[in-house]
Amino acid sequence: MLFVAGDGARWDPADGGRWAHASLKAVGGIKVGQHRPVVGRVKALQLKREHRRWYVIIVTESEPVPLPSTGRSVGIDLGVARFLTTSVGDVVANPRFLEVAQERIGGLQRRRARSRPGSGNRRRVRRALAKEWRRIRNQRRDFHHKTARALVDTHDTIALEQLRVAAMTASAAGTAEHPGANVEAKAGLNRSILDAGWTQFTRILVAKAESAGRRVVLVHPANTSIDCHICGASCTRPRQDTVVCPAHGELDADLNGARNIATRAGLGSGQAS
Ligand SMILES: [Zn+2]
Repeated sequence: MLFVAGDGARWDPADGGRWAHASLKAVGGIKVGQHRPVVGRVKALQLKREHRRWYVIIVTESEPVPLPSTGRSVGIDLGVARFLTTSVGDVVANPRFLEVAQERIGGLQRRRARSRPGSGNRRRVRRALAKEWRRIRNQRRDFHHKTARALVDTHDTIALEQLRVAAMTASAAGTAEHPGANVEAKAGLNRSILDAGWTQFTRILVAKAESAGRRVVLVHPANTSIDCHICGASCTRPRQDTVVCPAHGELDADLNGARNIATRAGLGSGQAS
């Protein structure tokens, strides 16, 4: 349900207090727990239901406020072992909550598998699972916002791979929220949590860059990790974290990927200019 501001919809921010208030023509006034500041002019309010919770989504409009130039550009590689690696060798590790969540969710999924269909126990486990996913989604979103903020604040141009959305959605393993047979496997679960994150992170990064007057370049993803960033030769990959160029020897796979991404975006090898 979408309610357009001025057309009976109103938003009163929390202003230091715990509760904000939304007024919606069809619903009336409601108390809202506000999670983050609302930036820009409110254009519309949207009500969304997720399991037993309701959310108010606030659509805003704001003019880009350009940040001062930094003279720095960077390519970033989104990965599995690490969340991201930059072309200058900075690393953002995967947040700890992923591991914690993985254990909890694995345990709940096993309990669900053992419970009788239609039983009260099954229903309780299902609710607990939904709660875990919600918790992960919220933590992950916060992590994405903070990581994107830091990148946008410190770079004029950020290059990353165009998302392989088809590969993600067509996965035989299903998605994290609707697991198929393979998602129960530990590695698979971890992987699916990360997959779901890359799309969101890219979207958040692009939005922040836009409103800060920064440039995001999305490059074609083919072979960014396997081609040597120095000479372009095709490397072998004896381990997940290492590629080996016939001429240049062992390279860190993620760093090599990030440098290729920087090069494809026209940022040189991604070193600060
Ligand atoms: Zn090489």
